[in-house]
Amino acid sequence: MLRRVLLGVSRSPQIKKAVSSLPVSSGIVARFVAGESAAEAVLATEKLVSNGLNVTLDHLGEDTTDLAAATATADAYLELLKQLGEAGLTQNAEVSVKLSAVGQALPGDGEKIALENARTICLAARNAGTTVTLDMEDHTTTDSTLGILRELRQDFPETGAVLQAYLRRTEGDCVDLAHAGSRVRLCKGAYKEPESVAFQNKQAVDKAYVRALKVLMNGDGYPMVASHDPRLIAIAGSLADRANRSPDTYEYQMLYGIRPDEQRRLAREGNTVRVYIPYGEDWYGYLVRRLAERPANLQFFARSLISK
Ligand code: FAD
Repeated sequence: MLRRVLLGVSRSPQIKKAVSSLPVSSGIVARFVAGESAAEAVLATEKLVSNGLNVTLDHLGEDTTDLAAATATADAYLELLKQLGEAGLTQNAEVSVKLSAVGQALPGDGEKIALENARTICLAARNAGTTVTLDMEDHTTTDSTLGILRELRQDFPETGAVLQAYLRRTEGDCVDLAHAGSRVRLCKGAYKEPESVAFQNKQAVDKAYVRALKVLMNGDGYPMVASHDPRLIAIAGSLADRANRSPDTYEYQMLYGIRPDEQRRLAREGNTVRVYIPYGEDWYGYLVRRLAERPANLQFFARSLISK
């Protein structure tokens, strides 16, 4: 309930302005965001990789409504991939891209522009020796994002997909995407969605997550278990064992700043673990989704605003 209210309130321009004026180095922002520049993101990557973790980097920004901003985001990824390559990190670091940040929401040719920008990023990633995963956004974009994924995979079959367990359609999408070579990140889902398309309570979402994960683990693809939920992480391990999967045939993923001890514990036990690192100037939408997930984060956040 609180999560839905917060996601609604966050659309207010006044609230956005007040929160966005926080410096990125302030407590709550720095906990979840690695910095504003590619250099800071590379530094955070180096630290995690030296602790036996892998990363996926997200240049923050979404719902771009002008062409120049979409191009600038694509360029930011090219610069990031260049810096990751120079630092020798591309074996352990890939990138995550939101299609709305590279043009998907532009009127008219948006999908075509997003596809071309994503293609440019995929090519740069491949040349650098790494991969791209397409983040999933709100349900109005799911068909478009999966359509662009299909197009991209014709040339770049290594491109990862994201499916959200809270969507009623997701079990079926898992069946479609659980084929050999298909990297699929399964998360619960972070947007405010209507009941007609999404399960609303935690128990129903958790059950849907397990059903979807069973399909992925029993399939031939590469499941990416994106959750901090201790129960789901334990279930993922059991399902992988039952499907006779070795640790190089699936991975766990968590967000930067959330349960870092658990990230290291899983890696120490021989699992593949990837941390999702967001960076960039446009961190507001991302931060609000993280705050909405956990009431305890709000107290921390309120203290940041007061001490501003
Ligand atoms: P929850 O039930 O929310 O949390 C379980 C436990 O994890 C909590 O009890 C708490 O201990 C801890 N925890 C969870 N969230 C927080 C937090 N914010 N702060 C502190 N502790 C916390 N969503 C999308 O819609 N599209 C995407 O493309 C997408 N990509 C993702 C990529 C990765 C790698 C991950 C980990 C998540 C991604 N998400 C994405 C977000 C996801 O959908 C959930 O909103 C988020 O992961 C919280 O769900 P949970 O599975 O951790 O379970």
